[in-house]
Amino acid sequence: AVEVKQLRKSYGSQNVLDGIDLTVRAGEIVALLGPSGSGKSTLLRCINRLEGWQDGTIRVGGRFLGSDEDGRPLSPRVTAQMRASVGVGMVFQQFNLFGHLTARENIAGPLRWVQGLSRLDADRRAQELLDRVGLAHRADALPRHLSGGQQQRVAIARAVAPGPAVLLLDEPTSALDPELVGEVLEVIRRLAVEEGLAMIISTHQLRFAGEVADRIVFLAEGTVIEQGPAEQILRAPSHPLTARFLSTMN
Ligand code: ATP
Ligand code: MG
Repeated sequence: AVEVKQLRKSYGSQNVLDGIDLTVRAGEIVALLGPSGSGKSTLLRCINRLEGWQDGTIRVGGRFLGSDEDGRPLSPRVTAQMRASVGVGMVFQQFNLFGHLTARENIAGPLRWVQGLSRLDADRRAQELLDRVGLAHRADALPRHLSGGQQQRVAIARAVAPGPAVLLLDEPTSALDPELVGEVLEVIRRLAVEEGLAMIISTHQLRFAGEVADRIVFLAEGTVIEQGPAEQILRAPSHPLTARFLSTMN
């Protein structure tokens, strides 16, 4: 459902992404690992078209995002419409919930404002999603009255509510106390299966990566240096940079 080909992006003279190839199928969860500054967030931001790039293509659901088939850039308005229609959702480390809105309204509000749903339909969809992330009973709570894990589950429900094909999560569990990681992990896995979502999750947490992901993609020096089944990469990395990175993290 996501296809990145030979993606290149630089800031000034610094090549952050230097020919990235990455394909993620519907229902598949990929964990993106790599040293700090290796370009994980930048890659996710390009896929969501929050950033532009210099060369290469990104296709989501078979459609080119942000450019036409010849690579010519499209206007921001067309790009935004495309993002909404092919469906890319994003979840951030710091949850980014609207602090003055209840859990339900954090989900239902955007469904009315962006997707144009009626109040009744938006509330129904929000309640259904809250139920699926185990928070039906906290629908009327404000974010500050929820735990970090609960806030992140609301943020994930909000991102999934419009029915995206792809969900990008940038260090979704890094701000959480260790004992809250499990509940978020469980919600991520369940939604990937139930919704048939392609998910790309950047993380520094090896255990989390091993438990959540079908495949690990290791980014360094602007390229994918190694990828494979999570269990295999964590147990027996073949690239020296991967091996060194993993040894510093255990
Ligand atoms: P971390 O693990 O610390 O989150 P990361 O892998 O997500 O790191 P990025 O945030 O994608 O790394 O950054 C990749 C490189 O691009 C870094 O060297 C960073 O300094 C640089 N960079 C990111 N955003 C910008 C920007 N807006 N302007 C200039 N350089 C940037
Ligand atoms: Mg990052």
